[in-house]
Amino acid sequence: MAEPSIYAENFKTDPYWWDAAPPDAEGDVPPPARVDVAIVGSGYTGLSAALELARGGRDVVVLEAQRFGEGASTRNGGMLSGGVNVGKGGDIERLYGADRVTAMLEEASGSFAHLEALIEREGIDCRFKKTGRFVGAHTPAAYRAQADRLDLLNSAADADARMVPRDRQHEEIATEFYHGGMVVERAGGLHPALYHKGLRTICRAAGVKLAAHTVVHGIEGTEGDLTVQTSRGVVRARQVVLGTNGYTGAATPWHRRRVIPVASYIIATEPLGEARVRELFPTLRVIADTKRVLYYFRPSPDGTRVVFGGRASFRSRTALETAPVLYRYMLGVFPQIEGVRITHAWNGNVAFTFDRVPHMGDRDGVHYALGCNGSGVVMMSHLGHRIALKILGKTNRPGAFDNLPFETRPFYHGHPWFLPTVGAWYQMRDWLDRRWAG
Ligand SMILES: Cc1cc2nc3c(=O)[nH]c(=O)nc-3n(C[C@H](O)[C@H](O)[C@H](O)COP(=O)(O)OP(=O)(O)OC[C@H]3O[C@@H](n4cnc5c(N)ncnc54)[C@H](O)[C@@H]3O)c2cc1C
Repeated sequence: MAEPSIYAENFKTDPYWWDAAPPDAEGDVPPPARVDVAIVGSGYTGLSAALELARGGRDVVVLEAQRFGEGASTRNGGMLSGGVNVGKGGDIERLYGADRVTAMLEEASGSFAHLEALIEREGIDCRFKKTGRFVGAHTPAAYRAQADRLDLLNSAADADARMVPRDRQHEEIATEFYHGGMVVERAGGLHPALYHKGLRTICRAAGVKLAAHTVVHGIEGTEGDLTVQTSRGVVRARQVVLGTNGYTGAATPWHRRRVIPVASYIIATEPLGEARVRELFPTLRVIADTKRVLYYFRPSPDGTRVVFGGRASFRSRTALETAPVLYRYMLGVFPQIEGVRITHAWNGNVAFTFDRVPHMGDRDGVHYALGCNGSGVVMMSHLGHRIALKILGKTNRPGAFDNLPFETRPFYHGHPWFLPTVGAWYQMRDWLDRRWAG
């Protein structure tokens, strides 16, 4: 007998979020010949910078290669954190020292407050909810490591975090997959594409010019006199803001050598009904875990579906190819929903950095915020805003992520040839950890 299909009849390889708010080219204008600030990329980074700059009186154009928001900003999981992921998997204490790490956590905490205030003040209808987050420990050792970090997260990042032992884990999630975990109350979720749509609307109202389907090919000059070559003509600008994150390409080779694009994949199930979803997620929190190759998942904002993401492949694969892998991962956590079908599968690029922290800075008048390391809804919105404040001369001291040494590696030019090997090694380590943990 043929295996039942995992795909619903209306299955598509577009983000679930695009059903409510697809990226568009609304209000597209040809790039002007001269502006104060040209922004490359129309994701959260670019639009957050554009909004503040326009409100600060600058003439701003956003140059976007695709439709507005078509990068990661309308594809992500919409899971929000205010610091728990900063430097995750890296060795930032050794690199930057305890004081700088504390400053990073404090700033990350502030970035959550910034997003909350922005959504509230601008009335952005993006189903934002401060649900909190549960981070499942994949082994007892990972649980102990979480517990060791608890005090720092609570004191520096104001995370309002606490440990949940395995015997009480069912209060958070209907699974045996984890060995307990950490609840972070100061976290939540939103609908990423509606958030982006809200940003587009307020940017337009603030007078930001938006140019879609405009590929930037190169940037020349120095601060005060920059020439931006685009597929729709040349733009002269005093400053450029680079917000290309996991899509950083040949136009900016220096930056490209410093970010590692990594594909992340997501599926959404058909509606299961609110009651069934609440059985799986009793507190309706968003969920992530401590594996090197993590899963991240959540109830859809309307509480009827499971949205499940992870690094299903470290090679270049389509969403269709990786959907069965993610489905298998999802059943590993929730075997009780076997047979449920999926309606959407999609992917997008995040950007890792070699030190695992996001970077902002400037080089010859090109201001950049790059390297979300997988968590950028809050952080990239914040860094985009901060770049604008810096250009406007409104910051009185550098931020914790500003002008850190931004490292690359020999022989790395932006094609992460090492990912399949490193990814396989990480997956093997996760598997061994769990086997040894029993
Ligand atoms: C599948 C997935 C799941 C994720 N889940 C989460 C999550 O749950 N929580 C979280 O916090 N973060 C998550 N993230 C990360 C988050 O989405 C990103 O950090 C964030 O959207 C980055 O915003 P950005 O504006 O910097 O970049 P993007 O939104 O990626 O925008 C970059 C833009 O630059 C444009 N561009 C690139 N080169 C050029 C050029 N030469 N000319 C013109 N335009 C150019 C691209 O077309 C793109 O639109 C996820 C990401 C993915 C892909």
